[in-house]
Amino acid sequence: MATLDTQETIRQSIDHLYQKKDYLPELTEEERVKRFESAKEVLTTTDKVIKGYLRVRRDNSQIVRIPAYRVQHNNIAGFYKGGIRFHEAVQEEEVENLAVLMTLKNALHRLPFGGAKGGVVIDPNSFSDRELFRVSQKYVQRFANDLGPTHDIPAPDMGTNERVMDWMVGEYKTIHPGQNYQGSFTGKSIINGGARGRREATGKGTYFSYWWLVEKCARQYENRVEAIQSDVGREQMQYLQSLYGKSDRGESISFAVQGFGNVGGVAALEAYKSSDLHHRVVSVSDEGVMLYHEKGLDIPRLVEFARVHNHLPKTEQQLQDAGVEAELHNRDDILTIDVDVLLLAALEDQITLNNVTDVQARILIEGANAPISGEADQVLKKSGRIVIPDILANAGGVIVSYLEWKQGRIIERYSEKAVFGEMYQHMEESMREVFDSYFQGEDLKSIRDICYINSVQRLFTLLYRHGKLY
Ligand code: GLU
Repeated sequence: MATLDTQETIRQSIDHLYQKKDYLPELTEEERVKRFESAKEVLTTTDKVIKGYLRVRRDNSQIVRIPAYRVQHNNIAGFYKGGIRFHEAVQEEEVENLAVLMTLKNALHRLPFGGAKGGVVIDPNSFSDRELFRVSQKYVQRFANDLGPTHDIPAPDMGTNERVMDWMVGEYKTIHPGQNYQGSFTGKSIINGGARGRREATGKGTYFSYWWLVEKCARQYENRVEAIQSDVGREQMQYLQSLYGKSDRGESISFAVQGFGNVGGVAALEAYKSSDLHHRVVSVSDEGVMLYHEKGLDIPRLVEFARVHNHLPKTEQQLQDAGVEAELHNRDDILTIDVDVLLLAALEDQITLNNVTDVQARILIEGANAPISGEADQVLKKSGRIVIPDILANAGGVIVSYLEWKQGRIIERYSEKAVFGEMYQHMEESMREVFDSYFQGEDLKSIRDICYINSVQRLFTLLYRHGKLY
């Protein structure tokens, strides 16, 4: 299962650090072994798992009992932080795995937060607004003592949004009067103290990770490809350069986006609008359908349709209503379509050993958390694909959450320009750090491995300095 993958990768990253003899050279061999073993123990286990049941009255007066979770993985880097998802398939192990990813993501991007995640086992689409309000209120009642602006700060995730955060803050404020409630949740509406741009942040950041790789990184290696030691790395760099080369000649780069929500819809629009690179977004999909148009889809019209209807057009009639030219296909066909770039912004475990050999895209970007299974990731690595992993690519949301939390604590309001400026700066720094080691490394670990190693090194150093490793 996915949790084991993550834990195994953490262990390997610690082993890798252990091999680096210039890391903590003051330690004797015996002390090193002890410290590295205890770091494995700390980082592969979870601080606290809270499971509760929410008793909620449905509109038909029936009372239902809904399982709900908050998992706090680790707080060595700062307060626990991570979203709450509403989804019918939520399970404890999955929430735990997502909490681990938050610890790694926050450390990778140097945010002063640890990792946590929450989940409620409901299908939000089958709940009315009033029912969702009651679920949100009950969630805060159940977990009130484990949350707080200097303890554990939730945010939206799959199936939740700014309205849910506003309801939750409202309840938090009632339960804890006099606290700085502004910092207790992020992803709130702007009028309620939310950061400008928070809703688009993850989608924009995800697109930015790709843009930076092609526009910045590949151009930096112009005339320097031979400096890359590994054959695979040189080939990948040549491919990246061929993409911006194409674009310089006015030819287009083809894009497919799985998922058309807050991440996929925004990222597709960014790709469509990009003025530096020429793109054709040939395919998008959601829960019900995949759309395809060789010349490129009219993304602004699809965004507008989805805003009104909550899904993509899935019949000929709806396509006509939307004013969009496209073929209708099965939703999962998007995973194996022949494109340059495939952006995964739906659920986890989309590319697994079952379908990985059919994947044709050369660049895969994880806008969702864990859409590629660990085993599939190894296969992609061997076949020379470029995967920009979740903790690197989709951190725009939590970076802007950090700014929202900060502005809430100092009672300030950042402008949208300031928010995106800071978000891109954070992401650029992390991208540079990761890809510098990727293209300069001899053995060419996967990009994901490097992200893990960087995060784990940061966490290890903090654990060590705080005297938590014996
Ligand atoms: N749910 C988002 C994530 O997975 C955002 C978390 C946050 O803003 O705390 O990164």
